[in-house]
Amino acid sequence: MVLETQQFRGAMTGERYLESLRDGREVWLDGQKVADVPSHPAFKDFVQNLARIYDLQHCDAFREQMTYVSPATGNRVSLSWLVPRSRDDLRRKRRNSELWSQQTWGQLGRSPDILAPYITSLAVRRATLSTVQNPHCDFGENAVAYAHYCREHDLFLTHALGDPQVDRSEQPQNEQRQVPESEEIALHVVRETADGVIVRGGKQLATAAAVSNETYVSLSQTFMRRADPRFVLAFSIPTNAPGLKILCREPISRWVGSWGHPFLALDEQDCMLFFEDVLVPWQRLFMLYEATPIVQTAATAGLNAFGYANVCRAQVRMRLFTAVATLIAQAIGVYEYREVAAKLGEMATNCAMWDLAIEGMENRAYENAEGEWALGPGPGMNVWFAQTSARMAELLKQIAGSGLIMQPSEHDLANAELRPYLDQYMRGKGVDVASKARLFRLAHELVASSFGLRQEIYEYWHGGDPNRNRINLLRSYDQSELMDRIKALCAQPLPHGEAP
Ligand SMILES: Cc1cc2nc3c(=O)[nH]c(=O)nc-3n(C[C@H](O)[C@H](O)[C@H](O)COP(=O)(O)OP(=O)(O)OC[C@H]3O[C@@H](n4cnc5c(N)ncnc54)[C@H](O)[C@@H]3O)c2cc1C
Repeated sequence: MVLETQQFRGAMTGERYLESLRDGREVWLDGQKVADVPSHPAFKDFVQNLARIYDLQHCDAFREQMTYVSPATGNRVSLSWLVPRSRDDLRRKRRNSELWSQQTWGQLGRSPDILAPYITSLAVRRATLSTVQNPHCDFGENAVAYAHYCREHDLFLTHALGDPQVDRSEQPQNEQRQVPESEEIALHVVRETADGVIVRGGKQLATAAAVSNETYVSLSQTFMRRADPRFVLAFSIPTNAPGLKILCREPISRWVGSWGHPFLALDEQDCMLFFEDVLVPWQRLFMLYEATPIVQTAATAGLNAFGYANVCRAQVRMRLFTAVATLIAQAIGVYEYREVAAKLGEMATNCAMWDLAIEGMENRAYENAEGEWALGPGPGMNVWFAQTSARMAELLKQIAGSGLIMQPSEHDLANAELRPYLDQYMRGKGVDVASKARLFRLAHELVASSFGLRQEIYEYWHGGDPNRNRINLLRSYDQSELMDRIKALCAQPLPHGEAP
């Protein structure tokens, strides 16, 4: 659990990543403890995919685009950990996130470039974190040391922010702010020791926790306001920390009876975390008993809440939906129909709007007080994508018709007795049956399979409750000038000065 600083090896390799998962972590899946994560059928394909991309960091074609030379060690490290100090740095970070998203077809909510900016943002704001005094450690210094540690080992992090979904009527943002003392379900400090704090409670939820190296544990905006300071804490924890139990949901990676489903190899898993008196060493804490510095940090860190990883994923995802829908329309000869073309046009419009929004974010990038280049505000994009993602899925379903469901499996295609019927009745317009089936099954993966529906739920919720985000955006969106003009207009005497 100490921050190992002797054997930094720089940018992760595939082999190192796979080996790092064999660390005694306690992962539960379908009522069983997982003996070996990298070889388990529920994780195997996903971790192999990640290992493949980690290896790209070291090959000639991608080294420059995905890594840079660490000023501290001289090792090449991932660009995910670069603190942007110029527009050019932002451009390099964007390219790195584009590659991660393209390599995973925009399907990973928790690729390694997502959490890195959270951690570097904390480190950059060390002075803010250090304003809270603690006799055992300096939270700002902890953040700096931790960012260094993560960068030089190129660790894969996830995060866990929310309380378990047990009784939301008692959750902290409600006016009375009750804490259910008898149950103490949410994560909290049980006691302090010379080594750190002992914590207990649950977190719902942490995507990819079973296959990551560490989890950044903190509070979301919803859960920040606490009546009891014992529930206010932020820290990092290795996945194999003693007392940390990880419960996985049912896998959506396996498909019984067929194998032609490439996206199912991208099931990143979602996990509940149960902390059973886990020791969090002092040097791993970034906040304790007092939330203000973390709230300020989140509010001022442009890259923090909605960095490149999210916007690049959304871009790849929307383009993928549009391209699959277009190919399907061509494959069944409906591309020229006005209604279908208009739907495809709506999808293309969303892609074009998103491209412009990213450019807007970049054009409004600025150098903040800490000398970090932060992207322009992203909350509007966060809400817009949460609602538009569902619309893209709806359009794809409407364009594809019943072919979304009715396709032969790989076993059907391989069967000599069946094949003539499939060739005749299930081919497309200028497309043979095998190509058509594989194309439609891609669409099925995106919008109709357990995998696709989970992705949809992810896109809606991962940025936090969209309703809360809309309300926050409304409150921060300055309408005063126009509202004053409207009020003045309404207060003017009527043109003829006559009562109706
Ligand atoms: C697939 C997936 C992956 C995720 N991955 C992560 C992750 O890696 N890390 C992480 O930290 N989080 C993750 N999340 C959690 C995500 O941030 C939450 O889902 C989101 O913040 C909403 O919280 P909740 O799910 O607890 O819903 P709830 O808060 O329980 O909401 C349930 C319903 O009640 C309504 N509601 C709740 N409270 C109120 C209130 N006070 N007033 C009015 N209405 C209310 C909501 O609008 C909603 O309709 C993930 C979620 C999903 C679905």
